[in-house]
Amino acid sequence: MRLITWRKSFSKWKLPEDCHSTASKWESFFLMETFQGIAVYPGVVIGSALVYDTEGYLIPKKKVEVSRLEEEVGRLKTALREASAEARKNQEIINAKIGSQYGAILGAHAQMIEDPVLFSEIKGFVEKNRCTPEFAVCQILRKLIQELKAIADSHMASRALDLKDIEKQILSKLVGLRKQELSSLSEPVIILAHDLSPSETANLNPRMVQAFATEVGGRTSHTSILAGALEIPALVGLGKFIDKVADGDMLIVDGNAGLLIVNPDQDTLARYRGYETRNRSLEISLEALKELPAVTLDGHSIALLGNIEFPHESGHCLDKGADGIGLYRTEFLFIGKEQIPSEEEQFQAYREVVEAVGSNRPVVIRTLDLGGDKFGPYALTHNPEKNPFLGVRSIRLCLRNIELFKTQMRAILRASVYGDVRILFPMISTILELRQAKMVLAEVKEDLHDEGLAFRGDIPVGTMIEVPSAALLAEILAKEVSFFSIGTNDLVQYTLAADRSNEDVASLYNPGDPAVLRLIDMIVKAAGPAQVAVNVCGEMSGDPIYTILLLGLGVNTLSLSPHAIPEIKRVVRGISMEEARRVAQEAMRQQSARDVNNYLREQTRKVLPDPDGLAF
Ligand code: PEP
Ligand code: MG
Repeated sequence: MRLITWRKSFSKWKLPEDCHSTASKWESFFLMETFQGIAVYPGVVIGSALVYDTEGYLIPKKKVEVSRLEEEVGRLKTALREASAEARKNQEIINAKIGSQYGAILGAHAQMIEDPVLFSEIKGFVEKNRCTPEFAVCQILRKLIQELKAIADSHMASRALDLKDIEKQILSKLVGLRKQELSSLSEPVIILAHDLSPSETANLNPRMVQAFATEVGGRTSHTSILAGALEIPALVGLGKFIDKVADGDMLIVDGNAGLLIVNPDQDTLARYRGYETRNRSLEISLEALKELPAVTLDGHSIALLGNIEFPHESGHCLDKGADGIGLYRTEFLFIGKEQIPSEEEQFQAYREVVEAVGSNRPVVIRTLDLGGDKFGPYALTHNPEKNPFLGVRSIRLCLRNIELFKTQMRAILRASVYGDVRILFPMISTILELRQAKMVLAEVKEDLHDEGLAFRGDIPVGTMIEVPSAALLAEILAKEVSFFSIGTNDLVQYTLAADRSNEDVASLYNPGDPAVLRLIDMIVKAAGPAQVAVNVCGEMSGDPIYTILLLGLGVNTLSLSPHAIPEIKRVVRGISMEEARRVAQEAMRQQSARDVNNYLREQTRKVLPDPDGLAF
């Protein structure tokens, strides 16, 4: 009811009568809304929203002691005074620069901010809910913005933009110095954002961030991969929803079906609470597989290795039953850092992984894959590129920064004496790149030898096959490496020319596309005669609907996010190699990704009743 008063006052800015809503309409703001996105890490979470908007303001719903309410209202008064003063100052600047008709817009903003009705609405909300004024500002203004947007009238839509501006102006005064870092949250929340960069995601504290959901992003973007590394249920590519949610709103994140449910009704809530319990028991039943080998019904052993981004994840991989580490993405040692990590720092990280995994299990350390959507220290990745995924990324960056590359290889080689370490070069697109990388490795070995430092001289060297040119040249590359690791995340994006982090092309970006299947088949066939081992380490290897296909095509090592290992193991143990080959042949006959996926889903259901249930 209270909002109506301010809304009436707002009509001074010529709002038509029909937007003066009733209390029941205001209540309807809290009706349940559901958004469909892309699920990137499974799990169901019920919790409270924390909107991390593009300005980076975090507005948690904090309870305020009654004794501090007066102080909070004082802060509100100061913030409104400062925000209106700033708007008036900007009005003068604009008047002088481009004319008073434009300055008047800011004058109107100042008037709105100064309106006593706005002040009393926010104050009333703070006192009634015993919350901070920033929370009250968000609640009141965002709901009003939402209401204005719902009116199909362009005049109203631009009023909503004015209100958005006003909200930002007031919040900048209130939050200003109190802007929280994502890494230092003090209560469990579900983060909602337009986008999160890989470095912001890497800094999330999984004990406080129960889940996150973003408007943009694709299934295999590095932000999504990090959600898996941190084991945070996550949704990306939800489209525009941030304006419809306020801090403190109750949410359900369904990381299996890709749903974000805002303000769930009682029935939905009850259904999901039951689901939470069932999910936990399913996980427990999969846990039982941990000690069992990944062997097909007719006795073929499949190696299931873990993908990691941080050294501390290695223990978790073993807990999930991994046979080693098949992909250590070392660039995460560099992301979000101001300085390039020293040789010693890198060596310690690599040694930590190798020691945790033990000397009898492989650890594949991939050299730096910076660039694309992964940005490291300023000194390395500050040149803006028009197409970063097609630019100086990965091995290209290393071959232009030989000292950096050598430092990393020294650290890897020094760690190699502690276990079964293997080196993997990312994003190789020509044979010359591979040869150059191997030459640098040979020089580093000589240097270490001259310095009397120990390393494994015959360390196995592999190449990622993640660019179509490498797949087409697999026969040639096979003669110069010990193993291939197929990076389907990039192979899919480069084959289909569909950005892996762009939700608008998510329907094109599909590992089941017949073009991708043909490339994988070609790679495996090229590797066989050269006795080159083939691993698949993109997200495809953690999706159960592709397990039978990959086995049937002749892949016998899969490297995947640790959480998906038990489920993939269940599929491996439920199928014979003979049957897998038959399924792969039939899949290869399909003409579209949709047909391939439908066929594979149907086949997978025979061994795993709900293939879309736990993993994506
Ligand atoms: C891939 O491209 O499939 C891969 C494993 O590498 P990344 O996801 O780090 O690019
Ligand atoms: Mg890749």
